[in-house]
Amino acid sequence: MGGPAKDARAIHPELGLCRSCLGRVASRRRGPPRPLDPDLAAECFVCRGLMDGLGRLAEVALDRISGYDYETFTVGATLKPSVLDRDDYIRSRTGAAGAASIKSALTGEVGRMMSRRTKKRVDRADPDLTVLLDTRFGSCEVRSRPVVVYMRYTKTRRGVPQKRIACGSCDGRGCGECGFSGSGPSIEGVLAGYLLERLGGADVRFTWVGGEDRDSLVLGRGRPVYARVRNPARSAAALPESTSLDGVEASGMRAAAGVPARLPPFRSMVRIVVRFGGEPDLRLIRTLAGRVLVATGPGRPSTKEVGSVRYRRMSADSFRMDAEVEGGTPIKRLVSGEGVEPSVSSVLGTECACARFDFLDIIGNS
Ligand SMILES: [Zn+2]
Ligand SMILES: [Zn+2]
Repeated sequence: MGGPAKDARAIHPELGLCRSCLGRVASRRRGPPRPLDPDLAAECFVCRGLMDGLGRLAEVALDRISGYDYETFTVGATLKPSVLDRDDYIRSRTGAAGAASIKSALTGEVGRMMSRRTKKRVDRADPDLTVLLDTRFGSCEVRSRPVVVYMRYTKTRRGVPQKRIACGSCDGRGCGECGFSGSGPSIEGVLAGYLLERLGGADVRFTWVGGEDRDSLVLGRGRPVYARVRNPARSAAALPESTSLDGVEASGMRAAAGVPARLPPFRSMVRIVVRFGGEPDLRLIRTLAGRVLVATGPGRPSTKEVGSVRYRRMSADSFRMDAEVEGGTPIKRLVSGEGVEPSVSSVLGTECACARFDFLDIIGNS
């Protein structure tokens, strides 16, 4: 028995090497390894026939990537440690330590085979697809570069939350009630379902430019959002400019270079229905324009800009108020005054509550 080194020493210099393994070490070898006689049953000392079976590996890989849209790819591989050990041994033993390793020879050759068939380019630095061969099982895994899609959405139906909420009947495990999705209807679910259907892929992560209530409408140009699709089969070029999805309209869809590390500032045009007590002078609502202090836990409060305040009385105890507010302003608290100063309640000198609010437009993030 013994390790590969012992075996090799016993056989050397009569080591049998296949054409491929011999070719790698031949230029600088000292000893005279001879190629395997194809009629003999003996196998290549280093690869044990692996390098003769690359056509099959390439076929497996070609089959796996046939569903993907791509221009460039790269091939990686996992090899048995014993193969790598024997490869190291033979390369150092023959003075060919600087020669290509069996791993790079294998991935290079499979890449060339696939390139000939698909007419696609190998790009190791920034490939669209990464093909990972596992030679131990003759299997192959494919990973595609994630796609980031920028879009804006409008919402014309109340009662749908922005983010997925676990289904109340099954607590997210999936049941008949939720169509085995594990969550109730949401903007996130609608957009993710659409993107996965169009692009394929494993999952979608969203980065929202602000958020809204489940009962809020989002109108105008809509709310910007970045969607990162992992392992997509197709690029963002497969998306139309806009689409209508069951009360959600997505528009301006395009590929983005990435999700910005810092979201650009934005402002929202909001329409708020306010209920109030007492007999306040509603004209005072205009004095709300300016900076408001918003308590955000311990430490200094943040400031938010409120402008363009207008109102229209609707009934004895309610009015509608339009305002342009800085992104991230907590609308309900801006009305009630809880941790916000000044507020609708404080400028009117009476207790007010936000009955409903909608976004008429979101500005400043193209
Ligand atoms: Zn070999
Ligand atoms: Zn459920």
